[in-house]
Amino acid sequence: PASKLPNLGTTIFTKMSKMAQDYNAINLSQGFPDFSPDNHLLELAYKAMTSNKNQYAPLAGLPSLRETLCAKLKKAYNSSYNPENEITITAGATQALFTAISAFIKKDDEVIVFKPAYDCYEPAIELYGGKPVLIQMKAPEYKIDWKEVTEKVTEKTKMIIINTPHNPSGTILKKDDLQQLEKITRNTNILVLSDEVYEHIIFDNEAHQSVARFPELQKRSLITYSFGKTFHVTGWKLGYCVAPKELMKEFQKVHQYNVFCVNHPMQFALNEYLQKENNYLNLPEFYQHKRDYFLSLIKDSRFSFTPSKGTYFQTASYKNITDKQDTDFAIELIKEKQLATIPVSVFNKNQQDDKMLRFCFAKKEETLKKAAEIINSI
Ligand code: PMP
Ligand code: GLN
Repeated sequence: PASKLPNLGTTIFTKMSKMAQDYNAINLSQGFPDFSPDNHLLELAYKAMTSNKNQYAPLAGLPSLRETLCAKLKKAYNSSYNPENEITITAGATQALFTAISAFIKKDDEVIVFKPAYDCYEPAIELYGGKPVLIQMKAPEYKIDWKEVTEKVTEKTKMIIINTPHNPSGTILKKDDLQQLEKITRNTNILVLSDEVYEHIIFDNEAHQSVARFPELQKRSLITYSFGKTFHVTGWKLGYCVAPKELMKEFQKVHQYNVFCVNHPMQFALNEYLQKENNYLNLPEFYQHKRDYFLSLIKDSRFSFTPSKGTYFQTASYKNITDKQDTDFAIELIKEKQLATIPVSVFNKNQQDDKMLRFCFAKKEETLKKAAEIINSI
């Protein structure tokens, strides 16, 4: 049959994690922690499952969890979302992003995507007949050129997708960037889809610049978050999307038929946990410590890097080591050095190769130490 996505293969994360397993490599490729979540959270999950919370949740998610999350957003970004009709609990941020794109993107709509970009945006746009308009950010700063954005906006521009803290580059958007976005979208119908899954993983005392902090932007934005990143439970596949009610209404029209509702007992557990614990507030320190530890171990290696400002990823250039294409070099490192990473070109426009690899540092110190020994031997 004719493929709707003829140019698409298997995701890089599947490929690299599978190879890491096959070659018994240390896996710093796909982003996930190799340590356990808080025991208290696991106990609450068990309690939810043994106290009869095992049937369908309401379509939008557990009401008490929606209330807790809206209060959390109010406190963090001073933005008001109504738990009744402005939030939906989703199967990770992935489903939130897919649902947001599918609810709004029609044939020939243009969607501005900044490259390198996380890999799930463009396939969703293309599946609905939209056209990704790609803007490359340049290594190593990966700053958005807002002049270029202004030039690329047309009457067909339906949506702009941003991601801060940014995967894979580890850069963050500053207040000034959000103000530029606000200016460009003023008096237009352009929607903003803001992927903020790493909102709590941000370093060097920087504040996360959520679009929710900017009232004009907030009105035209859907924002996605992920419990996986914040509570070390990527395998639970739970997240949420917030948006003003007219946008959320369209979002839920799709959500009700592509999943209806998501994992009920885990929503109970997360709500109770959030009410009792606020240890996610320590995440900047927790992950900054891991970043600094990892970078201190590899500072004399032949890789060069600018410290990541957010996310649990560090990119590093290997241009002093070899001219090889990054995809080939990443495969060679798995096979010959038992170290798995992600080649950054897979996220770039036209697979542009900047000779950069992405390393995930959401790992135990012993894992980072073993990985660093390999990195130092390259
Ligand atoms: N957006 C970005 C930028 C991500 O890095 C990820 C996780 N890899 C997601 C979305 C998806 O999040 P989830 O695992 O909650 O679906
Ligand atoms: N977000 C994770 C990463 O960037 C991967 C999630 C996935 O495997 N799709 O590594």
